[in-house]
Amino acid sequence: MRNPLSSSRKCPICGILFVVVAFLLVASSSSADPPAGSNALDSISVGVPMNGSLQRGEVLPRKGAGYVLIKSARERKARFGVLELVMLIKDAAYKVSRKHKGSILRVADLSVRKGGKIDHHGSHQNGRDVDFAFFMVDRRGAQAAADTFVPFDANGFSVDPPMEYRFDTRRNWALVEAIIKSRKATVQWIFVADHLKKLLIKYGETHGAKKSVLRMAEQIIHQPGKKAHWDHFHVRIYCPASDRPECRDVGPRWAWVK
Ligand SMILES: [Zn+2]
Repeated sequence: MRNPLSSSRKCPICGILFVVVAFLLVASSSSADPPAGSNALDSISVGVPMNGSLQRGEVLPRKGAGYVLIKSARERKARFGVLELVMLIKDAAYKVSRKHKGSILRVADLSVRKGGKIDHHGSHQNGRDVDFAFFMVDRRGAQAAADTFVPFDANGFSVDPPMEYRFDTRRNWALVEAIIKSRKATVQWIFVADHLKKLLIKYGETHGAKKSVLRMAEQIIHQPGKKAHWDHFHVRIYCPASDRPECRDVGPRWAWVK
């Protein structure tokens, strides 16, 4: 590589300019940094998802490019997460909407402002969990949306209301792929019923998904216990590195996670 100072022989003031610019860069970057050893400006996820809290949680705006927060989440004020989770939601929603025009991801509960217990959930306590309604289409194949979560059977038909909607495997797979590939956060789980996981993996396999993404999806997509997540996705991210040791992960750490 060329030595930047060597140019000073041809240009006498370049050396001085170089020093001044370097000084200004150092001065400006150090004044913007948080105090050493902390992330004073960033959110912190404390504890575990079943028993924890959230400090300086980031709020998810009610709507943005490719997503909208559904009514129940707005009413419960469950719009807060660690910065990394909020960035992941925005990133994934935007990517799906770019790929599938007009697509709007319906985001449900994250955590409440300071975390802790929240109605209707065992987890969602420390800003690392979020629920999404499924993408679906109506009988004519047009993008459809409902105010509540809609359950789907193994053939991808809605159960309630019966046969009214179809599980939009194409967009739901695009969402899974966007979440897995996003660099905003590292996902640990996408909870969803086994019968819908089958539809998703099969779609990926038959539509050119990379082998590496499929292998990750096989592990990340999971039905927890017998309780079927047949009406929504539940996504959980790992503790951001800057939130440890206050933040604690439970369960497996996938081989590709640093
Ligand atoms: Zn959930």
